[in-house]
Amino acid sequence: MSRIVVLGGGESGVGAAVLAKVKGFDVFLSDNGTIEGHFADDLRKWEIPFEQGGHSEELILNADEVIKSPGIPSTVPMVRKLEAQGTPILSEIEFAGRYDSAKKICITGSNGKTTTTSLIYYLLKNAGLNVGLGGNIGKSYAYQVATEHYDYYVLEISSFQLDNCYEFHPDIAIITNISPDHLDRYDYQLENYVKSKFRITQNLNPEDCFIFDSDDSITIDHLNKIIISAKKLPFTQKEPYLEQGAFLKDDKIVVRVDNEECNVYLKELALGGKHNIYNSMAAALASGIDNQVIRESLATFQPIEHRLEPVLSIKDVLYINDSKATNVDAAWYALECQTRPVVWIVGGKDKGNDYEVLKPLVKDKVRAIVCLGVDNSKIREAFEDLVGKDNFVETRSAEDAVLESSKFAQSGDVVLLSPCCASFDLFHNMEERGEKFKEAVRRL
Ligand code: ADP
Repeated sequence: MSRIVVLGGGESGVGAAVLAKVKGFDVFLSDNGTIEGHFADDLRKWEIPFEQGGHSEELILNADEVIKSPGIPSTVPMVRKLEAQGTPILSEIEFAGRYDSAKKICITGSNGKTTTTSLIYYLLKNAGLNVGLGGNIGKSYAYQVATEHYDYYVLEISSFQLDNCYEFHPDIAIITNISPDHLDRYDYQLENYVKSKFRITQNLNPEDCFIFDSDDSITIDHLNKIIISAKKLPFTQKEPYLEQGAFLKDDKIVVRVDNEECNVYLKELALGGKHNIYNSMAAALASGIDNQVIRESLATFQPIEHRLEPVLSIKDVLYINDSKATNVDAAWYALECQTRPVVWIVGGKDKGNDYEVLKPLVKDKVRAIVCLGVDNSKIREAFEDLVGKDNFVETRSAEDAVLESSKFAQSGDVVLLSPCCASFDLFHNMEERGEKFKEAVRRL
């Protein structure tokens, strides 16, 4: 019996272990840290042996294949050892794809993955299709392949998951956009990160489809260097017309694929902001379904938690939770779509941000800045002069940040948490940051 070792006991690793078990492998799961109680219970239920708090070499190095969870960098010693002895290392997505014959729509990109993935899932569900949702979102893809049956999957795939994909074959691949992010995992080379994103296209063939943002220079530069045989469907807000793809005409999105055309009025879109026009275009192109269903779905889709999520309006000040904006590009779009003066809550763990592109927006729209982070020096340096010394404060808790913001905010303003940075200096993750922000707003 072939032996599969899974590294990492979270959603992805446990799902992969269950699938390996169902497929009759000798499975072992190892986690260097602590496995959450409910995941450990799942492993016991499926009778999968596991360890936590360290890796036992003798139980790992004898694997025929290793499935590595995306959170584990390839630089950790155990992974290095496996590589050195030539053990194949796969991602959960690669492994599950071997056992799944459903039609797969796969989404990667720097920003907009979750929104676009959720939009497509909603569109396909509304069209009455038997569709599963997975990847970096919700339940593990592998777990679903092991336990459920779908005709379609919509899968959000991060660059870390793509790094260990080799044969995985999407039917439709989408790159929402590419901007510098996670460079610490890519030797601080943008090119490595871009190549990782483009792995989503590596097995596309002429019957497949590649959907991409043709306004995004990083995507286009790379696309010009490689050959993709799949049908290419760009989306754009700059080009006035496309034979195939999605573009803007007057006050509507035009979606053209083969000889079909669908129109969606911008005012009908449920999600606001320029970035969501891109996401809606990508989703409409991918769904390939009835005009009416596309229009109705894009009009009724509910905002996703922590992504420009309106929380409450207090004394005519609207509080918005965009905790998921962990990079400059996402914060740019958040600021760009505000039509009211903004009190901006920003800060956290800086990922090597260059704040220059945000300066014109800050100058135009931001009344005051409330930092929420341990080290705010780069933010101070970039923006303090633009808003003025008296309109710039530093805080270290969501509670204080909300309180300080409420002092700056005037009737008609927006208080926007769009931190531009990771959350790990003060919070466990971006969800906790968003939750704490919302709690503090509700307590005002
Ligand atoms: P991801 O899953 O790629 O992180 P999300 O859909 O969760 O993307 O959105 C992350 C952040 O990026 C949110 O702050 C959101 O408002 C913003 N965003 C969403 N779509 C886009 C886009 N197409 N371009 C830039 N920013 C976006």
